[in-house]
Amino acid sequence: AMQKRGALEKILRDAVAHEGLLLQYQPVIEMSDRHLVGFEALVRLPAPDGTLIAPATFIPLAEELRLIDKIGAWVLREACSTAMSWPERLTVAVNLSPAQFASGSIEDTVAKALKDSGLEPHRLELEITETLLLANTEATIAALRKLKAMGVSIVMDDFGTGYSSLSYLWKFPFDKIKIDRSFMAAFEQSDDGVETVVKSIIALGREMKMRVTVEGVETAHQVDFLYNAHADQVQGFYFGKPIPASEIGADVL
Ligand code: C2E
Ligand code: MG
Ligand code: MG
Repeated sequence: AMQKRGALEKILRDAVAHEGLLLQYQPVIEMSDRHLVGFEALVRLPAPDGTLIAPATFIPLAEELRLIDKIGAWVLREACSTAMSWPERLTVAVNLSPAQFASGSIEDTVAKALKDSGLEPHRLELEITETLLLANTEATIAALRKLKAMGVSIVMDDFGTGYSSLSYLWKFPFDKIKIDRSFMAAFEQSDDGVETVVKSIIALGREMKMRVTVEGVETAHQVDFLYNAHADQVQGFYFGKPIPASEIGADVL
């Protein structure tokens, strides 16, 4: 295990030093008219054997090694400048780690990425998970408010997993809730009650003026259900896997 970790650490440090990380983009679709509304940027670490290492494998290590600020700033810069090459109606979503809030400069990093790229703030969505709100809630909410005041959207990612404290929903006015992909997996297993829970979260979002995106949509059966349940947006392999920016064809844009 230690050897593996050492090898991963070396690959990661090299990639950070030489801007060797990659971003892939997954389409986000408006449910009502099934049009493309934007992309989520997802980071990958290329391994020497040519494979791509998933963020779940290296982000925790990056946090531990205090490399996450540098990686996060690069992801923001790269995603914003890529979005500048798309039509203006398309948005780009970037995932943030709780560790990026701990250092206290996340507002500056976001502001700089917007300024340097020229991207209009309303085209940028920042995805956070509720783990961020578990600790240090006051300071975190203050940082989120500053970000929102800059005009960017704040999204609650992986909603419905973890602690799922509903109080976060009234402590901060999220622009969007993303229902975790485990709900679509459970739907596929025909788990009792999952349909009711998904419909209820969508209704809750509507009532709170928050848009609701469902992730991990893989089948036409799930799409039909979500259309009837009035989900706002959907994202998943059914509509498109994450791909490099260079593979986003002019026909999709
Ligand atoms: P997330 O933000 O919830 O991203 C969605 C994950 O679900 C992505 O995995 C995506 O590839 C996967 N996915 C999308 N559609 C489907 C589907 O239809 N079926 C299934 N089974 N999976 C689907 P990925 O790219 O491995 O990312 C995992 C997590 O890593 C992300 O979850 C996010 O929390 C984190 N992450 C990704 N990029 C970054 C980043 O730049 N910075 C930080 N801090 N975290 C990141
Ligand atoms: Mg996300
Ligand atoms: Mg998610």
